[in-house]
Amino acid sequence: MSKFTILVVEDEEAIRQMLIMVLQQYDFAVIEAADVAQAETILGDILPDLILLDWMLPKITGDKWARKLKSDDNYQDIPIILLTAKGEEADKIRGLDLGADDYVTKPFSPKELVSRIKAVLRRSGKIHDLTQIKFQDIVLDTKNHSVNIGEQAIEISPTEFRLLSFFLTHPDKVFNRTQLLDQVWGRSVYIEERTVDVHIRRLRKILVKYKREEWLQTVRGFGYKFSVKSS
Ligand code: CA
Repeated sequence: MSKFTILVVEDEEAIRQMLIMVLQQYDFAVIEAADVAQAETILGDILPDLILLDWMLPKITGDKWARKLKSDDNYQDIPIILLTAKGEEADKIRGLDLGADDYVTKPFSPKELVSRIKAVLRRSGKIHDLTQIKFQDIVLDTKNHSVNIGEQAIEISPTEFRLLSFFLTHPDKVFNRTQLLDQVWGRSVYIEERTVDVHIRRLRKILVKYKREEWLQTVRGFGYKFSVKSS
């Protein structure tokens, strides 16, 4: 099953661990950072589907970082939910003005948090339904692991399914082999980079059958991207 990845940036260890536990329970993949510096290092390797960002962080506060991300071409598409403490009404409004996609006030219930996350993921446009990922006429269902292109149900193995799912939720962005390994196979797995090429070839073979191979593009000297625009 393809998971959505959430980057949690929270300096308070106990709250961070609680957030991780809740998100994992709801089947999200979680990456954690205790401050903005750590979070920036992570973003160099992984593009999360959403950032859960605490407002009160040491050195650089969440609102400042949100503003920075939203003005950066590489990161502005990542939805941000700010976590604020009670009574920071003015801050909340400022947070939304700064481009945070939503805010959640502490303390919050796990249910509330997850429903906000799902709403923001849906609003981000790439995800119409958490179990369905649509891209042009490709519909991928993460619940029953099926892929349709147009009216046709296609045969696909689990790895190619995860790879396709990742590309469909991150269109028009170039990923190198290391990034694809981290995102699709996970950091804990040791796999050689050329394995990525093998699975890209297999995925391309499937797409050839349906004349969609031009969407899976090789970016010379860097990696791959999925796009309807020709590069
Ligand atoms: Ca804090």
